[in-house]
Amino acid sequence: MGDTIQVRLPDGAVRQVPRGTSPLDIAQQISPRLAKEVLVARLGDGGNAIEEGRLWDLARPLEGDTKLALLKDGDPDALYVLRHSCAHLLAAAVLELFPETKLGIGPPVENGFYYDFVRDTPFTHEDLKKIEAKMRELAAQNIPNERKLLPKADALKLYTEWPQQFKCELIQEKATEPMVSFYQSGKFIDFCLGPHIPHWGWLKAFKLMSVAGAYWKGQEGNPQMQRIYGTCFATQAELDQYLHRLEEAKRRDHRKLGPELDLYSIQEEAGPGLIFWHPRGGLVRKLMEDWLRDELLRRGYQLVFTPHIMLRDLWKTSGHTSFYKENMYGAVEVEKADYQLKPMNCPGHILIYKTHLRSYRDLPVRLAELGTVYRYERSGVLHGLLRVRGFTQDDAHIFCTPSQIESEVEACVDFAFAVLKTFGFDRYEVELSDWDPAHPQNYAGKPEDWQRSTAALVDTLARMKVPYKLMPGEAAFYGPKIDIQLVDAIGRPWQLTTVQFDFNLPARFGLEYVGEDGARHQPLMVHRALWGSVERFFGTLIEHYAGAFPVWLAPVQCEVLPLSDKFQDYAKQVAEKLRAAGFRAHLDGRNEKLQARIRDAQLMKTPYMLVVGGKEAEAGTVSVRHRSKGDLGPRPFEQFLADLHAEVESKAV
Ligand SMILES: [Zn+2]
Ligand SMILES: [Zn+2]
Repeated sequence: MGDTIQVRLPDGAVRQVPRGTSPLDIAQQISPRLAKEVLVARLGDGGNAIEEGRLWDLARPLEGDTKLALLKDGDPDALYVLRHSCAHLLAAAVLELFPETKLGIGPPVENGFYYDFVRDTPFTHEDLKKIEAKMRELAAQNIPNERKLLPKADALKLYTEWPQQFKCELIQEKATEPMVSFYQSGKFIDFCLGPHIPHWGWLKAFKLMSVAGAYWKGQEGNPQMQRIYGTCFATQAELDQYLHRLEEAKRRDHRKLGPELDLYSIQEEAGPGLIFWHPRGGLVRKLMEDWLRDELLRRGYQLVFTPHIMLRDLWKTSGHTSFYKENMYGAVEVEKADYQLKPMNCPGHILIYKTHLRSYRDLPVRLAELGTVYRYERSGVLHGLLRVRGFTQDDAHIFCTPSQIESEVEACVDFAFAVLKTFGFDRYEVELSDWDPAHPQNYAGKPEDWQRSTAALVDTLARMKVPYKLMPGEAAFYGPKIDIQLVDAIGRPWQLTTVQFDFNLPARFGLEYVGEDGARHQPLMVHRALWGSVERFFGTLIEHYAGAFPVWLAPVQCEVLPLSDKFQDYAKQVAEKLRAAGFRAHLDGRNEKLQARIRDAQLMKTPYMLVVGGKEAEAGTVSVRHRSKGDLGPRPFEQFLADLHAEVESKAV
């Protein structure tokens, strides 16, 4: 044991310092200003002595040679520690206000932190406000967070006498060393591995969000706890931005907008996870599907339809009854034979492929179906339109020769981009999932299939200049794939498009084609879905547009509003002419004040409101009001019609 240790900084500089020097001492040596800006240290030596990336209190003496990074508030690890310290601050404030409270655990989590408490009275909204105020009061005192070590027996004694029985239990279970680490901040002390920020003065941008019930250790039957959730950021600006994003997400929630805009419902009487498309939602779906079918035909796909229920033996051949069993409904017996509600469309398309002996000249065969499938999802994971038990995939299967895979993959990616552009998304993220070549036994297909297909995916993305993230070992057992996530109006990613190779099914079903050499070969098979499912994509669209669909997709494009009863005739003419020209117009001739009818059309997010009265009837005009641009003034009706036509044709968003 020497008296000095080597500390390697991120820029490569090595400092020799006395053993027991703290990261804060080193920060001081570098610059007093840096010492004021750092929150926590990250260690590592790349070997085993110190775990790489281990976080360390600034004031805690360094015990041996190490790498050392001094983390400021922009670092994600520093934010994590900041949030952990904020959880302690929450517990301290709760104990000041409600000293009888028993403490559970209080970790940082994504976007914030929580602390679990046991108290006879439920925490109210008012209590949260009081607790938050107490937290601010304590934080303003810049109380230092100090690490302390206590012998295990003393630690247990401390919590037994307090009494804090849950903490006793934690120490019994978790403290493996003779000495137990605590963090003390003023009067507050907590059994905790740390690390923590130097003092609570750093905690300025935080907010308590909610209280929820939780079981001790997450196990039903254990004592019920009250979990207070909070969020915390390094700066007020970041906190504000986060809270704004939350508000936006709430405002856009398709589960709220769906019923409000009369688009769809889920009915208790029919069962969970099953979607009823109302006329307004059904119309949007029709427009989506029309676009898709036209595009499929234009791009050389053939449209097929396959049964919803097929013999269970077919699903044995495909292997689904073993590897996909968890998500399938039980067998239905018909005339002593077992039938299966389809969870996927692939076997149906394979059976169609097999009805002819295909030659290399026939390939690629691209079979597409808006295929409705049924999958068992546990009720706890069902979520609006996004996780459901019955849905319609925009599914297709491509059967091709090895020499065709690059052009087929490129066409799929190009199609996916056309979807993004048409439906108004300009940001996306691409992931390429490959196998783990160290374990070929876990995969279907030959190594050369994997290499060739993965190379085709990589080359295609490179040629198309599409940036992507490689996900080694993330592929399904039957082939590599590309996933495209779109990024919505408020920056949230949504998994939609998948282009997936399959080396399993062609072999299981003995698929063949006659090659140029006259011999039989096995075709390559690609599954691909662009929207994922109609339901999922519809949910995404609702949230992306906050229910205000672009004019080409809007269920009602124009609401015609006669100023009063006297102008019903002209209003009717306007509405009828719009309908005759192929637009979706509705006449709101109710005996209500104009303002109230405008408000209702606004609430339904109808793009155009056309107000007509005496002046308009005389001049053959309409007074145009747009849902977001407001009053656009009077326009000759023919001109409005031409403008609307152009807007719909261009699918303007
Ligand atoms: Zn802690
Ligand atoms: Zn498939």
